[in-house]
Amino acid sequence: MLPSERENWRGRFGAYALDRHGALRSLNTRSHFVKTLFRLIVLFFIQVIALGGSYQQSSSASVDNNLMVYLPLVQKSAPDEIEYYLDEMNFARMTCITSNLVNLYGPRHHNFKRFFIDDKCTIGGQSYDNHNLIRASMYVFNGFEELGYNPGKEFVPEWHDSFNVVAQKIGSVYPNTFIEISAHVDSVDTTPGASDNAGSVAAMIEIARVLKDYQNRHSLRFITFVGEENHLKGSRHHAERIVARGETIKAGLVMDGIGWSEIAPDHMNCLWDNGNAETRHISNLFNSVRLEYDIDIEWRLCDLLQSNQWSDNYAYWEHGLPAVLSIGGQPYADPNYHSCADTMSSIDMQNVYLAALENLAVTLKLDAEETQPDAYQAGESTAPALPEGEGISH
Ligand SMILES: [Zn+2]
Repeated sequence: MLPSERENWRGRFGAYALDRHGALRSLNTRSHFVKTLFRLIVLFFIQVIALGGSYQQSSSASVDNNLMVYLPLVQKSAPDEIEYYLDEMNFARMTCITSNLVNLYGPRHHNFKRFFIDDKCTIGGQSYDNHNLIRASMYVFNGFEELGYNPGKEFVPEWHDSFNVVAQKIGSVYPNTFIEISAHVDSVDTTPGASDNAGSVAAMIEIARVLKDYQNRHSLRFITFVGEENHLKGSRHHAERIVARGETIKAGLVMDGIGWSEIAPDHMNCLWDNGNAETRHISNLFNSVRLEYDIDIEWRLCDLLQSNQWSDNYAYWEHGLPAVLSIGGQPYADPNYHSCADTMSSIDMQNVYLAALENLAVTLKLDAEETQPDAYQAGESTAPALPEGEGISH
């Protein structure tokens, strides 16, 4: 309970509650001293109950039964701000954005100026001026503008005129320390890319919508990366620019492939960190928020540090910056992975929605923390070594 509410409650109690319900009526004939003393005793009991925060009727048998009528006036706690923002997340909106990215722009690849018109990857007839990757990025860019952001294009050198889209909100307490929420918008050329990775883009945009008027303490960035499927081109360029500008990254929350669960119909979000203290702290927050806010999704760590397949989290790790990947079920085990069958009819939008709720709650938990200046500035690489002779191939 906040002090102001306690004061407010006291005011209500003193103003009319004791008199209005007549609990002290039998004391009216007694002296003013006795009345005052009795009120003090009652206030003492109620104060103890209020501060204890665990009031139950059965536990206050020593209080006069007539007083029970007042006790429900005690407000147990303030509404949780995180709960409020979680309730604002809109499942239908996420589904709509995912569907647009799949059906209007898939495959989101620099070799395509047309889209797949059916689940057999038949290419549609109309050709566009820009390739699908640029068109999809402009869809995100325009979406941010409609939400009231002032997005920017982060052009990626020598990558088909394509660009990351970045929208940001500068923080009131830590303006140079960023929490970045991202998803890659590109796909390989063999898939409409619903779970990989339209669903995650929709999740990121919905989080940006919900947090538009949130008073953030740390700076927030919402990003779509391009070229993830081509050696993390977009995220690597972005990470280099973070380092060049001397920014501090509190957390990179990356979403990729969250529309699949290996335990369907139950839901899963597997967290991929690099095992150091900063990233494990973030992974653990994913576990605590799902329990605290009843987000019905399983939690586990992905234990695949030796894999040669990575997502944009790896670009952060290369510069010693903390990032954690949400990747839904077992990475790369999705039978529709990079195939023509990664469509709206196979993606698990409920898994997308639940993983998005987690990422939103973790963002707000991190924002509420105090941050040491320069705590997570770029330094030694924390990227696990790749196997000899192998490159990133996700
Ligand atoms: Zn992906």
